[in-house]
Amino acid sequence: MIIAVPAETLAGERRVALTPETVRRLTAKKLQVRLQSSAGVGAWFSDDDYRRAGASVETSVERLLGDADLIAKIGAPTVAEVERLRRGATLICLLYPRTHAEATRWLAARGVTTIALENLPRTSVAQAMDVLSSQSTAAGYRAVIVAANALPKFFPMLMTPAGTIAPARVLVLGVGVAGLQAVATARRLGAAVEAFDVRAAAKEEVESLGAKFIGGAMFADSETAEGYARELDHVALQRARAVIRPSLSGVDVCITSALLLDQRAPILITGEMVQGMRPGSVIVDLAGEQGGNCELTEAGRDSVRHGVTIISRLNLASELPLDASRMYSRNMENVIGYFCRDDILRFDFRDEITRRCVVTHQGEVLAEDLRQALELKAGGRP
Ligand code: NAD
Repeated sequence: MIIAVPAETLAGERRVALTPETVRRLTAKKLQVRLQSSAGVGAWFSDDDYRRAGASVETSVERLLGDADLIAKIGAPTVAEVERLRRGATLICLLYPRTHAEATRWLAARGVTTIALENLPRTSVAQAMDVLSSQSTAAGYRAVIVAANALPKFFPMLMTPAGTIAPARVLVLGVGVAGLQAVATARRLGAAVEAFDVRAAAKEEVESLGAKFIGGAMFADSETAEGYARELDHVALQRARAVIRPSLSGVDVCITSALLLDQRAPILITGEMVQGMRPGSVIVDLAGEQGGNCELTEAGRDSVRHGVTIISRLNLASELPLDASRMYSRNMENVIGYFCRDDILRFDFRDEITRRCVVTHQGEVLAEDLRQALELKAGGRP
């Protein structure tokens, strides 16, 4: 089986889907790996590193994609890339088909099997494949580093001949995987940390990291059976803001990462709440792509409003390209191992992971609701 690793095409993307470490293990299993020349340089992996790991390096994207049985990618492909894939090939990536509707229609029309990694269930079996968790870990860590860099003061408490410096105060809103990593990183840098989430289960995790938990108990019934947060109604959202407001006015840094599955992110910080913050304080909004947790966030931009620096980067994991790629690559290796037996990719639709992740197969977009959203009839064509 030939596995292709194309260079990522999204502007600013520095990660690569497979690292030399993983390639070495795949080639030891007699899988062939081919890399688009320079695909790893953003993450500091040279073509020679890949050659030493047993991969071959290809300069022609046409040949790379046209010959591949399996394509390992991070972001969704462009339509031009899909046109180069051969019928019956398998693509593994973060697809988000509603955002990449045209590419998804083409993937179905060309008979490509697409495994969308964002659909992996959050179960213990799928944990080793869970790219959302690994990349959120990178993003949560990086958010704190970005905030520390923009903050005009120290993070840790310092006792010096020039006087005592109080530790920075950090508030984290939304403590899923990214938020929890932000709490841990801010603690390691010596900040005093508070965190808010509507899920009561987050309390124990936050407290185990030496941070203070605010919220939770007053938002009963805020969690789905799968452990995701539900959307708050107007009254509950007002209540959440009332809990957050007094903390927010005293902190130096606020990291926000409150997300809802397939919905706009909740606005937890209004413009008026930003006005109440300390001058020089910093908000890093990790929910920018989903509309932002702060009303004043401009997705993908840094701005200063009412003396507060508001930072929104849309691909923070890519700002840590070496380790983010390593983690993604190990997840990818486990996904390949899950679907590939004896050099053949097998799709058993009785299996939950297969049912959830395989979006296009044998010329069809499989899920009826997605077919409707993409305005496709059964048969895969518009
Ligand atoms: P996410 O990115 O979907 O959301 C981030 C956080 O925002 C969540 O903690 C959520 O509760 C919170 N949130 C949503 N609306 C909010 C609001 N109005 N106010 C405050 N906070 C709000 O979360 P995630 O990182 O994908 O994790 C989602 C769940 O899945 C968590 O329970 C997590 O522990 C669980 N999980 C399980 C596994 C596993 O078992 N394999 C792996 C990863 C995550």
